[in-house]
Amino acid sequence: MSAAPLGAHWKSAPLALGECTMADCAEVLAGPTAVALLPVGSTEPHGPHLPLATDALLAEENARRATKALRDRGVSTVYAPVVSFGVTRYAAGFSGAITISEAALIGYLVAVIEGLRGAGFALVCVTNHHLEPEHVTAVERAVAAAREARGGVVFANQLTRRWGRTLSHEFKRGACHAGSYESSLVLAARPELVREELRAALPDVDVSLSAAIREGKHNFAEMGLSMAYAGEPREASPAAGEALYEKLVEMITSECLEALGLASPPDATPSK
Ligand SMILES: [Zn+2]
Repeated sequence: MSAAPLGAHWKSAPLALGECTMADCAEVLAGPTAVALLPVGSTEPHGPHLPLATDALLAEENARRATKALRDRGVSTVYAPVVSFGVTRYAAGFSGAITISEAALIGYLVAVIEGLRGAGFALVCVTNHHLEPEHVTAVERAVAAAREARGGVVFANQLTRRWGRTLSHEFKRGACHAGSYESSLVLAARPELVREELRAALPDVDVSLSAAIREGKHNFAEMGLSMAYAGEPREASPAAGEALYEKLVEMITSECLEALGLASPPDATPSK
């Protein structure tokens, strides 16, 4: 009986890096083109009906689904533990808004990415579900700094033109804080965490966060989000969430496969 070579059993390793033993991790690293997905979220208010961890759990769920999809494409992949704190100043004044500074986020992300690369992952793909502009800019700066230092890192960013336009109408209007977009994604992943009696009674809040930010408004209260949500939470459904995850998984798998040279980007599509 001959022992199977290291890397022969990566498909049976847990999808989450944190659930792997060191032997599981060694299998993934020895498999074809080891990739680590790094989900990033926040801890902040999401209306009366969604949990504070909404962005973190969406980032993690999306990374979990994308890990499966990449394994189906033959790429040995795991997803790293989620980074659950971000820059969240717009939600100031509502209970549960826990912000950290840009410098702290950038320093930590760069260190985590370098740690994953140093541990043997050929590519780190950052995926983020907290869309506050200062937070997204900090993630972009961290990815740029880590890329400069040792390469092998990509940011799958739904705010780019290439990917943003594939998402929902509400998302594209910028009314996407705890509205139908995020509510649908939570309903599809963790329905027990949605306060359904509250969601069913919430009126639409037709405020574009992106427009309000351009107008110089600094927080949800100034933007007219009196209950820390915008958009149409009543329109949310698990089916809409499933359809959105499909697009988000497509974004992550495409960014990874292109970075690995296993697929070419569509030339007709500008990336920004
Ligand atoms: Zn959110």
